Amino acid sequence: MDSPRIRFGLDGRVFIVTGGSQGIGEACVRRLATDGARVSIWDLADERGQALAAALRAEGADVRYQHCDVTLKAEVDAALAATQAAFGRIDGLINNAGIFKASDFLDITEADWDAVLAVNLRGSFLVGQAVARVLASQGQGAIVNMSSVNATLTIPTIASYNVSKGGINQLTRVMALSLTDRGVRVNAVAPGTIATELAAAAVLTSDEARQKIMMRTPMKRLGEPREIADVCAWLLSDASSYVTGEIVVADGGRMTLNYTVAV
Ligand code: NDP
Repeated sequence: MDSPRIRFGLDGRVFIVTGGSQGIGEACVRRLATDGARVSIWDLADERGQALAAALRAEGADVRYQHCDVTLKAEVDAALAATQAAFGRIDGLINNAGIFKASDFLDITEADWDAVLAVNLRGSFLVGQAVARVLASQGQGAIVNMSSVNATLTIPTIASYNVSKGGINQLTRVMALSLTDRGVRVNAVAPGTIATELAAAAVLTSDEARQKIMMRTPMKRLGEPREIADVCAWLLSDASSYVTGEIVVADGGRMTLNYTVAV
């Protein structure tokens, strides 16, 4: 486990992280475990997820792996039941699983459009609703949805991704307002470009592509997955008890920049 720089008092709490076997999701799993939380990883990559859970258990954390395709309601319901049986309670969720498919707008296929919307938006709805029902029945809990700066900014070659993340922002706000009276807070984190497999395949495909992003990034560096995990841990903790319906941007300053920087 990583050494905790700041602790958020999550000892003993139980959290689900979808897409938690690598990238930002893995960093969230590690961050929560470091803070003493118990974590259920929901992912498609069974071998990778099981290996991560086993490695963290060997370090003393209570982390388990659960296969779940977030696009399938039957798998979401089964994963939720298995997680409740294994941990006895659920305190929150990071709705992180996400994919992208790049294509010129005129060439986007129906299948690719549906696939991206299915994981990023429908999956977040299905998992979010299922977990929210548990949290609402307890009268407390917190949910974090993984948005992106691409919910607001657009890249012409990833239209389905842009639309899915725009939907995540509205899903976040409407869930937050629907669940306020039930004691459940819902927020989103909107990362800039973070050093993961997804970013390598999506937007860091060449030196030129990387330079274009750095010119839009005042901090002149990629974000690290752990820097997004820190924000998620804060939003799941009591340290953010008056924050709900918020989209927290963590992007090295990109969204506030109205020119380009020299790199
Ligand atoms: P990765 O591709 O590194 O990890 C995503 C994980 O989600 C993988 O383990 C993947 O499994 C899993 N996954 C994919 N489809 C499903 C599914 N149907 N059900 C369950 N799990 C699934 O991505 P990142 O860590 O980069 O991104 C995580 C989130 O952060 C995404 O929502 C992404 O949109 C968002 N984000 C990322 C940014 C970045 O720069 N990296 C910037 C802004 C937002 P498998 O490998 O088997 O497909």
